[in-house]
Amino acid sequence: MPQDTPVDCDLHPSVPGLAALLPYLDPLWREAVERRGLDEPVSIGYPSRAPLTVRPDWRDEKGRPASDVARFTREALDPFGTGIAICNCLYGVQLLFGEDMAAAMARAVNTWMAREWLDRDPRLRASIVVPVQNAEMAAAEIEHWAADKRFVQVLLLVSGDAPLGKRQHWPIYAAAERHGLPLGIHAGSSYRHPSTPVGWGTTLTEDYVNQAQAFQSALTSLVAEGVFSRFPALGVVLMESGVSWLPAFLWRLTKFWKGLRSEVPWVSEPPTELVRSRVRLTLQPFDGPPDTAGVMRLMDHIGSDEMLLFSTDYPHWQFDGSDAVPAGLDAGLLRKMQIENPRRTYPRLEETVP
Ligand code: ZN
Repeated sequence: MPQDTPVDCDLHPSVPGLAALLPYLDPLWREAVERRGLDEPVSIGYPSRAPLTVRPDWRDEKGRPASDVARFTREALDPFGTGIAICNCLYGVQLLFGEDMAAAMARAVNTWMAREWLDRDPRLRASIVVPVQNAEMAAAEIEHWAADKRFVQVLLLVSGDAPLGKRQHWPIYAAAERHGLPLGIHAGSSYRHPSTPVGWGTTLTEDYVNQAQAFQSALTSLVAEGVFSRFPALGVVLMESGVSWLPAFLWRLTKFWKGLRSEVPWVSEPPTELVRSRVRLTLQPFDGPPDTAGVMRLMDHIGSDEMLLFSTDYPHWQFDGSDAVPAGLDAGLLRKMQIENPRRTYPRLEETVP
């Protein structure tokens, strides 16, 4: 089965509510949640009733995203023939200000994922949610799950306290590299700063569209701070980033690297080549041109058929029907996106998928 079936690299099981995590919280924190009457952490960027958050036919009778394995696999895996699905849980762990609480919540989310999802369907894999508020605690969370090979990636949000290349984050990257786990950087923010570089916008549209700028800033930081040279075996996957901005961004980054490279002597190869070899991007929501010729021109500008990874981004409303891949792609490229590129990107799939 799985050797020749698509790998979906970005799907989102939903925590149905804080109550679902209580059995997996440390007793101290379970008591704290109950005694203080804590509410759900606010959304990372997907308000529950917004149309973009869940495709209408994928809402359950209460209007929530499907949050059980049977419905998830029926709606998100079976229609696409998916053999392996990588689950990224976007719960508000990164929004909390208390480091200890964030660490407890991350542990609860990961345990919930293992028990309620991974144990129930052999096609499921997941990313490790980490308390990014404290890099040592985040590294400890990675160590805790490292032996469970069903966890194939470390999940970060693109916008946090500080740009992702900063050295304060490096203990996370060292732990990820040590265990063969790529960094999966997903759209979303802990909202410590405005969600656009020019200040707070008004609408979800502005917030969502501007995620692409956040990815550019994060990628610039990872390159300029030297993360790729300090961690030579670390892969990076940009998830829900869109892809159409990438060529122009790389032309610009490489141009200014040429002029300013004395400032970043550790960036020893052109950023275009560095990014092509070390960074991957998930497909949905695909923001390329609508016609096949335009898509092929975009692929030509990206300059590599190894960078894009198939994803549905279930249950977000990014496409209609089952058109999760652009029409007209040739069979070889499609196979690379759906099977070969993901399997190369996630070394742990080779250990767990026959
Ligand atoms: Zn996503």
